Amino acid sequence: MPPAEYEIHPATPAAVWRVALPVPLPQLFDYLPAAGAAGGNAIGCRVRVPFGTRSLVGIIADTGPVGAGQAGLREVTTRLDATALLKGELLDSLRWLARYTHAPLGEVLATALPSALRGGEPLPETRAWAWRLTEAGATARPSLRAGSRPRLLADALAAAPREEAWLAGAMAGWRAAGRSLAQRGLAERVVADVTTAMPPLADGPVANPEQTAAIAAIAQTRNSFQSLLLDGVTGSGKTEVYLQAIADCLVRGRQALVLVPEIGLTPQMLARFRARLGVTVHALHSGLNDAQRARVWTAASRGEARVIVGTRSAVFTPLPEAGLIVVDEEHDASYKQQDGIRYHARDFALVRAKALDVPIVLGSATPSLESLHNARLGRHVHLRLHRRAGAGTAPAVRVVDVRKRPLQAGLSPQLLEAVAAAIAAGGQVLVFKNRRGYAPVLLCHDCGWSAQCKRCSTPDHGTAMTVHAGGRRLQCHHCGARRPVPPACPDCGALALQPQGNGTERIEEFLEQQFVGVPVLRVDRGSTRRRDGLEALFDRLGDAPGILVGTQMLAKGHDLPNLTLVAVVGIDEGLFSADFRASERLAQLLIQVAGRAGRATRSGEVLLQTHHPGHPLLHTLIAGGYHAFAEAELAQREAAGFPPFTHMALMRAEAGRADAPTAFLHAARALLGESAGIEVHGPLPAPMPRRAGLQRAQLLLSAGDRRTLHAALSSWVPALYTLPEARRVRWSLDVDPVDLY
Ligand code: ADP
Ligand code: ZN
Ligand code: ZN
Repeated sequence: MPPAEYEIHPATPAAVWRVALPVPLPQLFDYLPAAGAAGGNAIGCRVRVPFGTRSLVGIIADTGPVGAGQAGLREVTTRLDATALLKGELLDSLRWLARYTHAPLGEVLATALPSALRGGEPLPETRAWAWRLTEAGATARPSLRAGSRPRLLADALAAAPREEAWLAGAMAGWRAAGRSLAQRGLAERVVADVTTAMPPLADGPVANPEQTAAIAAIAQTRNSFQSLLLDGVTGSGKTEVYLQAIADCLVRGRQALVLVPEIGLTPQMLARFRARLGVTVHALHSGLNDAQRARVWTAASRGEARVIVGTRSAVFTPLPEAGLIVVDEEHDASYKQQDGIRYHARDFALVRAKALDVPIVLGSATPSLESLHNARLGRHVHLRLHRRAGAGTAPAVRVVDVRKRPLQAGLSPQLLEAVAAAIAAGGQVLVFKNRRGYAPVLLCHDCGWSAQCKRCSTPDHGTAMTVHAGGRRLQCHHCGARRPVPPACPDCGALALQPQGNGTERIEEFLEQQFVGVPVLRVDRGSTRRRDGLEALFDRLGDAPGILVGTQMLAKGHDLPNLTLVAVVGIDEGLFSADFRASERLAQLLIQVAGRAGRATRSGEVLLQTHHPGHPLLHTLIAGGYHAFAEAELAQREAAGFPPFTHMALMRAEAGRADAPTAFLHAARALLGESAGIEVHGPLPAPMPRRAGLQRAQLLLSAGDRRTLHAALSSWVPALYTLPEARRVRWSLDVDPVDLY
């Protein structure tokens, strides 16, 4: 190859840029390079292009020769990056994701980018700042007044420069102290060297034998792909294992990515990571603004961010120096994106780990049946932690049979007695009820009318509105519609409207009356809109006796060492759900909630209140634990031909016009025809046949073999865009759907 300066530049561009645009169309779009901007490798760079009458930002996905009949090609407006923004493993993995989800590459790439970068903004400044003592400062340090803030800061800087993020975690008032030292020429602010490790603020406990074995197993696979299922009961020290594996990864000069469920990313958890790892821990969660997200993403892509802890979309973080990926609570439903590009962050993390050739640890006290199945097949190394680490002991579980018992706000006398006893002993109590609001139904006692959502109900499918605000407001949990509770029955005019059943609000109200003087805190999406709201609630409670009432938001997250009693009520409907994943979810939820009790030295108790004490799920779960349940459930799934033994794809369609979704799905089904090895069910109305005024229908495809399914999808899906019926609906494909609604 001749040296660059001898390359021949033709007068007319011989190449087109094939651009992936964030539009719901399956193809790439060809443009001529911007004048004078054709140099270098263009693939992975952002460009601004004219698209119809709009201007869009896309990514150059390919280049090619100008085809016949492309004379009128439009030119790119601006090239936004001189070098690729998306490249290497990440770009390859995203191309894989587009193929796997059968979604347009442009939409997948747009999903993967932080919104500021997706919109075309330049890469942000990412350098971290540190403070160090000057020579004069080192000399003057002993003469600074002992105990003063400047002296404390000078002492902290004595051995080595410290990053601002580290200082923020280590001492209060460091910034003012720094300014004061800087004014006297004793300290200075400098750009931090990302490779300087900082000493941890806290030492960890000595690992127990099971933890040691897990850490060793992860270390053994270092520098090459291996997936490990860290299957350990709550409080068994899984986080401790992650921390040691991450520390090892940092020592080897590699980056670590940790995925956590939204609710698990608490300030408490971040503080633990920061204190133990001695480097800046970059958090990516829904509380950040666009600029902050773009900064973390960019810092990771430059190799400056060494530890990134984030929720679902953090799986798209570039990791040029990857060493380890951790997915905590891998069973958690929040890892599945439910609209747009319906990716599963855990599954995509596995794909990336393989492409990056690094180990990936999937941790859970209640692993998904998918992951247990994969462990059984030998795809994951199965690591078990059987016992709680440290001081905690596993709580005792007692089933409370409430048949024929008088209930107040849905709570039985035994349960209330146990609450009183726990409070009297100075403990905290968690009352778990997975239904927010005041009451699930508003009923007319005279005529039987009940409040239903006008935008979701159909003549043969009523959707009850939940009573909120102590009985003053109605709210639809499916579409969000709200209206005030009517003063009288709209049908018969009677003043006989009564809230039926119990939500967290009503239980809270009842417990406040029952336990006067004891703090009662409600934790659900209604009470804690802001992410720091939850922490503020917990801070207010402290370690004092009190009662928490809440939904599954309480199943994980903030650690409550003084929690001695967990009372679970209202699980009966989950025992009889039609959804094939309902049992798995209920079992996981029960184990996770139960695991909140007895985290510290005080032993804990769990009460399960039910009308079905003999139900096999409860029986198996209590007698044999989660793994006995999982074995039984996997056998049932296999017999019934459900995942993980089959593979599914769900096509959803919705439209304002009643017949449009079904018409589209019929046309789609006809286009698919008969495919060997694939079962097609539908078109059928969705389990929620109308939501927010839109009619909804679906088509379910399932196959025993994943490859068969994908082969059919890859010829079928692109053809759907051209169906005339497709123009009248909004349709989407969900590969490996988690929810079938
Ligand atoms: P998990 O992530 O499995 O819920 P954690 O790692 O949070 O468990 O550990 C639970 C508690 O036990 C924490 O307070 C932790 O500090 C403590 N712990 C973990 N491992 C040990 C150990 N080997 N020795 C003593 N305490 C430990
Ligand atoms: Zn009435
Ligand atoms: Zn509604």
